Amino acid sequence: VRPLLGSASMLDRTLECPASNQLPQTAPLHPNAAPAAEWGTAVHTLLETGEVTPGHEAKLKEIPVAKTLAPLVPAAGKEVAMVWRGESGQVDVLGNGLGREYGELGPNDVSGTGDVVLTGYKTLEVWDYKTGQKVPDPAESAQLHHLAMMAVKALRPAVDVVVAGFQRIRFDLRKKKDPVTVRDEYTVLSIVELDLHERRLRRALVKAEQVREDIAAGREPEVREGSYCFFCPARLECPAKKGK
Ligand code: SF4
Repeated sequence: VRPLLGSASMLDRTLECPASNQLPQTAPLHPNAAPAAEWGTAVHTLLETGEVTPGHEAKLKEIPVAKTLAPLVPAAGKEVAMVWRGESGQVDVLGNGLGREYGELGPNDVSGTGDVVLTGYKTLEVWDYKTGQKVPDPAESAQLHHLAMMAVKALRPAVDVVVAGFQRIRFDLRKKKDPVTVRDEYTVLSIVELDLHERRLRRALVKAEQVREDIAAGREPEVREGSYCFFCPARLECPAKKGK
């Protein structure tokens, strides 16, 4: 049985349209998605291990590694894989550098990987490297809320200040000199906001479970269209989209 919520990035759409995560996930990715993901992986690998991915040498040598978070991060804080267990609320740290391979997860588990996790005496920082064109507002990002919540619970339950952010690495081919820019976009999250995120996760799990039962019983699930339909992996099987 696959997890009801594979990752926190499905959270918002699942709350709006729970059927989106239980109908068959057959829609192809956007044509630009594969090359963008490959480039993103190459940048992550460089910053996390120093390795240069074959085929990307020319662009990777332009990345100003010294201007990123990479030199600051101890090995224990790189690519930290964690999983929130929906049944107990416990968080387990699975290890570093697992390449998004989380092993077997239960239906109520929601996993995630912090590219950078920095712990201080009273502070905790979680960062995600982003290489795409569009970056969500950190204060609205379910992914950052999820990573921050997991890191606090697993590593620093008594923390005072939680910083969650994106380090955005953008390549501009039109610029001959210094074509890469590195920008930090972050928010400070309260423990109350992290609690709220957990409540939203629980609500989404209940809704997704209900849809799973409906589909298993042969009932057509209710769907609710919105702007989130554009990237919905179930859009080809969606009763509201068929024939459109
Ligand atoms: S395409 Fe839209 S309405 Fe249909 S399942 Fe996906 S999110 Fe729901």
